[in-house]
Amino acid sequence: MSWEVVIGLEVHVQLNTQSKIFCSCPTRYGAEPNLHTCPVCLALPGALPVLNAAAVDKAIAFGLAVGAEINRRSIFARKNYFYPDLPKGYQISQYEIPIVGRGQLLLTLADGTEKVVGITRAHLEEDAGKSLHEAFSAETGIDLNRAGTPLLEIVSEPDMRSPSEAVAYLKKLHALVRYLDISDGNMQEGSFRCDANVSLRRAGEPFGTRAEIKNLNSFRFLEKAIEYEMERQQDILESGGKVVQETRLFDANKGETRSMRSKEEANDYRYFPDPDLLPLVLEESHIETVRASLPELPDAKKQRFMEAYGLPAYDAGVLTSSRALADYYEVVAEGLDAKLAANWLMGDLLGALNRSGAEIESCPVPAGQMRKLLQRIQDETISGKIAKEVFDVLFEQGADVDDIIERKGLRQITDPAAIARLIDEVLAKNPGQVADYRAGKDKLFGFFVGQAMKASQGKANPEQLNRILRERLDQPS
Ligand code: ADP
Ligand code: MG
Ligand code: ZN
Repeated sequence: MSWEVVIGLEVHVQLNTQSKIFCSCPTRYGAEPNLHTCPVCLALPGALPVLNAAAVDKAIAFGLAVGAEINRRSIFARKNYFYPDLPKGYQISQYEIPIVGRGQLLLTLADGTEKVVGITRAHLEEDAGKSLHEAFSAETGIDLNRAGTPLLEIVSEPDMRSPSEAVAYLKKLHALVRYLDISDGNMQEGSFRCDANVSLRRAGEPFGTRAEIKNLNSFRFLEKAIEYEMERQQDILESGGKVVQETRLFDANKGETRSMRSKEEANDYRYFPDPDLLPLVLEESHIETVRASLPELPDAKKQRFMEAYGLPAYDAGVLTSSRALADYYEVVAEGLDAKLAANWLMGDLLGALNRSGAEIESCPVPAGQMRKLLQRIQDETISGKIAKEVFDVLFEQGADVDDIIERKGLRQITDPAAIARLIDEVLAKNPGQVADYRAGKDKLFGFFVGQAMKASQGKANPEQLNRILRERLDQPS
């Protein structure tokens, strides 16, 4: 019998508030080290934390979006450990009573099936600073700009059963925090990072012992790390060994995980309620105000795209995978052929973005120009094929669709007399083929279409060309 993998994820999301969670220092990334610090985030004696209301609202928004209970009363606790980038000697977090309780996230898997993954909890906490090794030789630098940045830690149930399910969950969560505008989700800058808990078991048996892989900051690393971990644990179990509960690190260059610390070496955090912070008490009316301010969420938008635009579930899922892409689509498709617009966005536009490594947010083609391009297909100014040429120019160089069409002389030829002239020239040049065709060699029709299209430099209206060609060929000479 084969092994089943069990995966639970803990995701740290940096909330995009202006200021830190317990002081008014800015949260901006990339400043000169230790510029954004004050007595509170430097942990100077006597400095007291004051909770940032915007961070609380962002946590509530997340909880509501995943259908979770919002705890009316939650507690900030001290999580004690020593580390150079943690000047207080403890991190303010939430432990027994987090702000967000049980909720769930709906995933659409690669084969189109849906799966619900449970969310255990989500709690507010502060980020630590950073240790800098690169600029120093025998020393370590400490940058406390990040210390006190608000984090929402989102813990899932051990509900995922394959690396691709884990990736689908992380992608959905990533899209959701960006829809909600509670985080920029920038994975390179560490605004969205994930710890993966992985264990193996024989199907139907109780869960096995897990290893936790820390700080995965890309979807691909998550997948690779889980795959590696599955093989490592399988080797151990099949040779009669036992998996030890431990924390591991993923080495992206080698594609392997290695041990960081075992359970025996795990910190004893000695959590206790932070005496400097009152319990966080939320009024019902406050929660309702946050609920009223929620944007349309991905699942609802997908449903609306299927109903309002008549799109297949797959298309609607791709187009609503980010709020920016969905907004772009709505500008393009408004009043036009919705499926044509979907095909162009999912194929040509996403393909070009992908090749150039750009995101839809920095797309070189404004939605209005993309819309104009499709209008010119629909009003038969250009054919779909020529439109691809115009699109390439648009993507590479910008400019206006109509200008490109005029400048490059790409306007479609729709005048039947002009098309007939082109066809007659082709037929006159190929008398042998014409005779063969009339003698029953039907396959030659495609040859004439190709020649005539070529003679028009690809600009003849394809339907007219086909129709007139057939008339001419079927005419006895
Ligand atoms: P801890 O407090 O040590 O981090 P938790 O019980 O809170 O442990 O679990 C942390 C994460 O590990 C959760 O996402 C949970 O779903 C996952 N998890 C728990 N048990 C297992 C297991 N046997 N295999 C895989 N993941 C697990
Ligand atoms: Mg953990
Ligand atoms: Zn500060």
